[in-house]
This record gives sequence, structure tokens and C-alpha cells, in this order.
Amino acid sequence: MEKKYGKSVGDIMKIKNDFFTKNKEMLEMSKRQADALLRQPERKVCKICHSPIEGEPLYHSQRMEYFLCKKCGHVNSRFEDTDDFANAVYITDSYENNYSEADRKKYNDRRDMIYIPKAGFLLDELEKDGLKREDISILDDGAGSGYFVSAVRKMGIENARGIEISSAQVGFANAMNEADILTQADPADIVKMIRDTKCNVVTFIGVLEHIINLDEILQAVKDNQNIKYIYFSVPMFSMSCVFEASFQHCYNRHAGGTHTHLFQDSSIKYMADRVGFKELASWKFGSDVMDLYRMLCVSLEQNGNSALKDYFSERFLPLLDDMQLVIDKGEFASEIHMILKRA
Ligand SMILES: [Zn+2]
Repeated sequence: MEKKYGKSVGDIMKIKNDFFTKNKEMLEMSKRQADALLRQPERKVCKICHSPIEGEPLYHSQRMEYFLCKKCGHVNSRFEDTDDFANAVYITDSYENNYSEADRKKYNDRRDMIYIPKAGFLLDELEKDGLKREDISILDDGAGSGYFVSAVRKMGIENARGIEISSAQVGFANAMNEADILTQADPADIVKMIRDTKCNVVTFIGVLEHIINLDEILQAVKDNQNIKYIYFSVPMFSMSCVFEASFQHCYNRHAGGTHTHLFQDSSIKYMADRVGFKELASWKFGSDVMDLYRMLCVSLEQNGNSALKDYFSERFLPLLDDMQLVIDKGEFASEIHMILKRA
């Protein structure tokens, strides 16, 4: 399997600025999401391998306990993600009906900065595997605002479409792209759409971890022989989890909120075997050091050390990419992008 590590933080910092300036609000939101998860039934079996969850938790953070699966290494929260949980935590954003040129520029900038590299990785690896660009067709599940579909289309894949639960996001995506690149679909329809798709690539960018009926979705992928490749990104059990457990007064971006379980290399392999796919290529780049940096800055501000925070920032930021690369290569990074191929 081809392995790639690291990605420069660059301008992405500007996009995630809210994490720094709105720690209190973000933490409040995370607490409400944790309240919703605490109301759910206890998880009896691992989300990925279905072996019983037993023994002591590995750790706890923000009132939630996390168990390490002894069989596949997956990290599961004590409580289960259910439809009731999903209804409570996924806030439907409201979108305007009229968009300005400034909105389009913002959309395109975000697509180019964050999603073009993800699209490029997929297309390069498929090409290396002998798939010609004109033969690639993509169905993107959980397409959100359509950034990924927009990115692969910009890179020349005309046969690329997305499906998304939120009709507001579908409307926004189609308006921004001035084309119907996304279709609204309810969770029950999505299984059928994956089962019936003629596309040879299905993609789940930051999606698998949110799917309540993950078993059904994976089974649909397995059964549809048209699907030759799966491309996904998921949150990993990583250094960020340790930082979050250590800084309980800082917003927990990674474990908690809408993330009720986290992957490890071993649970990804288990999932791939289960659907009859093998690992083709991976790209690991985390936000662990950015998380640590943020938590240190927020903590320094909280205890009245603004001047030190500013001094520290100047010294620390130039080191950030190098430090993260060490963690990425050490296989303990917060995010993975992976391409699987039907075995
Ligand atoms: Zn497991």
C-alpha cells in the first residue's frame, strides 16, 4: 500500500479561527451534544467489529467514557449513536436564497484550499492504478455543501454527483456551482442509491463516523459490484484525544460532539476486509499539533498570560508543520484519507 504523510497548515488556520476566539461558545455546544449522547442507550458492541464492549474504559473526557475494542482496536464511546442522537446534534443551518459574488469567492477559495488536494490525491492514485480519468465516475455520500464534488469536477471528472440529507445544503451547493451537482436523499434512500449506483468510485469524506446505519451502508457497497473503489476520510484515535483529555476547559473538536467513535489502523483494516476491499493508498495528516497549540493559547488567555501567548505563538507557529509531520509518520495523527480497492 502506498503511504503518504503530512500537509502544510498554511491558510487553513484562518478558516478555523472560531476555535480560538469562541472557545466558550464551542465548549457549550459540545456540552449540549454530550448531554444528548448521555441520554442514549449504552453501546453493547463495537461499531465496527460487533464484539462485546466490556472491561474498563481506556479514558474519559468531557463526561464521556471511551472503550478500546480488544478485537479490532476501534475506540467506542459508552453510549450509542442513534436517530434520536442525530436529531439532537445535527443542526440544520439556514441558508440565504440570494448569494453574492463574495459568497461564491469564499466557496471557491474553501474548495481550492481544502478539497482540491483531497480530490487530487484520489485521482492521482486511481491513475497510478490504471484507471483513466474519463473512466472515473464518482458518487459522493454525505456531500455536505458539495465542495468535494465541485473539486473533482473542476479537475475534469464530469460524471461526479453527490447525495446529501440536508436540502438546505443541497440548495446551497447547487447555487454555488450553478449546476445540480447534489441530490437530496433521506437516510433510507441512501442505502438504495448506493446499492444501485453505476459509479465505480464511492466517496465518504468525513462521513462514515456519522452514519447511524453504518452496517447497512457497508453491506450496500459490498453487494454492488459496480463499485471498485471507496475513498474516505475518518477521525482517528490520536494525540488530539490525549490533549483533549488533558485540557477539559478547552473545546473538544475531535472526541465528543458528533464523533461517538474513532478509528485506528486496525479497525479500518477490519472494516475493509469485511466489505471485501483492500487498502490501496493512504494519506495521513492530523490537526493534533494545531489542537495542542490552540489549547495552550486558550489556557494562557484564561489565566491572564496574553503576552506570553503572543510570544509563544511567534516561536511556535513556524514549527507546527514539522511537529505534525513527526506525529503523522508516527501513525498517531487525528485524520486519515484512504482509498480501498475491491479485492
Ligand atoms: Zn471492534
